[in-house]
Amino acid sequence: MLISIVAPCYNEEAVLERFHDRIQAVAEDLLPLGHDMEFVYVDDGSRDRTLAVLKRLAERDARVRYVSFSRNFGKEAALLAGLRHASGDAVVVMDADLQHPPELIRRMVQLREEGHDQVVARRTRTGDGLARTLTARLYYRLVNRLVDVELVDGAGDFRLLSRRVVDAALALTEYNRFSKGLFAWVGFPSTAFTYENAAREAGRSSWNLRGLLNYGIDGLLSFNNRPLRAALWLGMVLLCCAGLYTAWIVGAALIHGVQTPGYVTIITAVTALAGVQMVMLGVIGEYTGRIYYEVKRRPHFLVKATNVERTKDLIP
Ligand code: UDP
Ligand code: MG
Repeated sequence: MLISIVAPCYNEEAVLERFHDRIQAVAEDLLPLGHDMEFVYVDDGSRDRTLAVLKRLAERDARVRYVSFSRNFGKEAALLAGLRHASGDAVVVMDADLQHPPELIRRMVQLREEGHDQVVARRTRTGDGLARTLTARLYYRLVNRLVDVELVDGAGDFRLLSRRVVDAALALTEYNRFSKGLFAWVGFPSTAFTYENAAREAGRSSWNLRGLLNYGIDGLLSFNNRPLRAALWLGMVLLCCAGLYTAWIVGAALIHGVQTPGYVTIITAVTALAGVQMVMLGVIGEYTGRIYYEVKRRPHFLVKATNVERTKDLIP
């Protein structure tokens, strides 16, 4: 079996060599078992010397392929590029910051040989802040009620995919890529195991609160139209309430005559309804925005430098 390691790298000059060393050790262990390995590193427009490090690695090790973007296109685009350039029978996607212990690949390969198409390594939340852990837990509970596919907390982008899963994921050409959900959507026999979370070895996480929130919204919206359905339901419920209230006011006016006060009621109703409408416009806007990006059919990324022969990705 040829195993491709796909690792997106954004400003990872500090850990890349160490990452490569550790993964090479795993490759050596797997060689006697009849498994070859290739490495596909995607430099996501890093501003540090990541590309230089990659070039050096490629000179030293003929199994290294690198793809470097013209600018930072985001991790999802980097993953896509990695999958496109991977030629293995199985592909392991993992972060380059050593938060995904390379040693676990042995176990993944073993599980792949037992017939699982997707092997997911789930991380625990050890070392994460309490706030982040709680929000994550809450988020997954909410999202799984809304989304058609099941998203699992901690089951992120460290997984082994069989060739048919990779091909299926590549056949999904949408612009807004939420790979966690895409892989879940693809399906095929999957299995998971848990590992202890490790802190970043060097450099800095590129996630901030806003990024996480936006990622969360993407997860909610990428897979279904249930938020639109929810908006419809909320609208109907509000309409019913309004009907009942109107009947009550008119009835009261008929019986007791018109009583003018009602400033508080009016202001409350106006502001509440305006708020609800803005939220719903937002929901509709989100979907429209997605359609806008989809119909533009822009490439997911542009390649600046690579040692992979194929150039078709320059103009996908
Ligand atoms: N990454 C990337 N492009 C980006 C941000 C991150 O390719 O715009 C890569 C990064 O180099 C790392 C992985 O995605 O290999 C995960 O990023 P990070 O460690 O910042 O996220 P976290 O582990 O905190 O979720
Ligand atoms: Mg990380």
